[in-house]
Amino acid sequence: MISEYTIGKFREIETPFYFYDLDVLRSTLDTVRKESMHSGYQAHYALKANSNPRILRIISSYGLGADCVSWNEIAAALDAGFQPSGIVFAGVGKTDKDIEAALKTEISCFNCESIPEIEVINELASRQNKTAPIALRINPYIEAHTHKYITTGIEESKFGINTWEIDEVIRRLAALKNVRLIGIHFHIGSQISRMSVFKSLCARINELQDWFSEHGINLTSINVGGGLGIDYENPEKKPLFEEYFSLLNDFINLRPGQTLHLEPGRSVIGQCGSLISRVLFIKNGSNTLFAIIDAGMTDLIRPALYQAHHRIDNLTSKGHIYRYDVVGPVCETSDTFAKYIELPETKRGDIIAIRSAGAYGEAMASRYNLRNLPAAVFSDDLA
Ligand SMILES: *Cc1c(COP(=O)(O)O)cnc(C)c1O
Repeated sequence: MISEYTIGKFREIETPFYFYDLDVLRSTLDTVRKESMHSGYQAHYALKANSNPRILRIISSYGLGADCVSWNEIAAALDAGFQPSGIVFAGVGKTDKDIEAALKTEISCFNCESIPEIEVINELASRQNKTAPIALRINPYIEAHTHKYITTGIEESKFGINTWEIDEVIRRLAALKNVRLIGIHFHIGSQISRMSVFKSLCARINELQDWFSEHGINLTSINVGGGLGIDYENPEKKPLFEEYFSLLNDFINLRPGQTLHLEPGRSVIGQCGSLISRVLFIKNGSNTLFAIIDAGMTDLIRPALYQAHHRIDNLTSKGHIYRYDVVGPVCETSDTFAKYIELPETKRGDIIAIRSAGAYGEAMASRYNLRNLPAAVFSDDLA
C-alpha cells in the first residue's frame, strides 16, 4: 500500500516519476536469496527489466548474479558491484565489440543463439588467447501462454537454437578450440502465470539432458531463464517464488556436479515500482470521460506495446465512482493506459499511481516528443 504519508510527499514532487518502494524490493530479494540458498541454485537478475543504478546496487548486495544483453548492461552490472563470475551474456545479436569486452572481463557464460555467433565468439576468443565458456540457448518449443510479443520459445521465434540443429552444433564445436560448452540455456517467454508451463519446460530439459548424456557431453550449467509472472491486478501480491523453486526442485533432474541457474527479471522488480502522475485535464468524449495525465507512453510503454494491463489508483480522491479512459499527452492514439476503468471522481491535480510498473517501465522509457525521461524517487528518501 502507498501510505497517506507518502502520498503527502508525492504532492510536493514534480510528476511524472517512478516511485520505488525499497522495502518491497528487499523483501522480494530476501525470498529469492533464501530459496536460492536452500536449493543451491544461482539466480541472475535480468538487468533489462530495470537497470536503475541504485536498484542494481541493492540487488547485487543480495548476492545475485546478473543476466545481461549488451556490454553496456555488463558495465552497469560491474559498476553496481556484480562479480564477473556471476554475469551471463544473452542476446540473439551480440556485436563484436560487445563480445570482445565481455571476453576481457571474463564473464561466466555466453548464452549463444546460433552457429555463426559461436564461430565469431571462437574467433574473437582466439585473438585474446582465451577459451570462452558458452551455453546453447535451445528453443524448447513450449507455448508460454502469454502475449505474442513476449513469447520466445516457439518454432518461428528468432530466439534460440532449434533442436534439429543441435547435432550440427556439436559437430561444429569439435573444431572450435576457443569455446568450451558448459551448459544449456532456455528462456521461453515472460509474464508466465501458469506453473504448468514451467513444468513442461522441466520435462523438455530432462529429455535434452538424456540426449547430451548419450552423446558423452558433460554439462555443468542448466539455465532455465526467467519468465515468472506477477499479478498486475493485485500489486500487493508477491510473485510465486516458493512455488516456482519447489516446482524446479521436484521436476528437474540435475546430474552430479550440475548447477541450476535462473534469470528472474520482472518478478524481482515489478511490484516495487509505481509510475506517479498528475491529472492535467478531464475531457468529455462522446461516450467516455478522458483523464489526461502527465505521464505518457514515453514513460511506460507496456500498455501501448503489449496491450498490457496495469492497475491504476487515484491516490487523492474518495469521490463517487465514474468510468474513465486514462490517457497520456503523447501524439499517438496508442498512448492510452486504460479504457473505461472505474476511478473515484477524478479532477485536475489529482495524483494517479500506475501500479506494478517496476519492470520494463523506466528501462524502456524514451524521449519521443522530446519529453523528459521520468525521474526515480525511492521510499528510503521520503521517510
Ligand atoms: C528477458 C529475459 C529474462 C527475464 O525475463 P523476465 O520475464 O523479466 O523474468 C531472462 N532471460 C533472458 C534470456 C531474457 O531475455
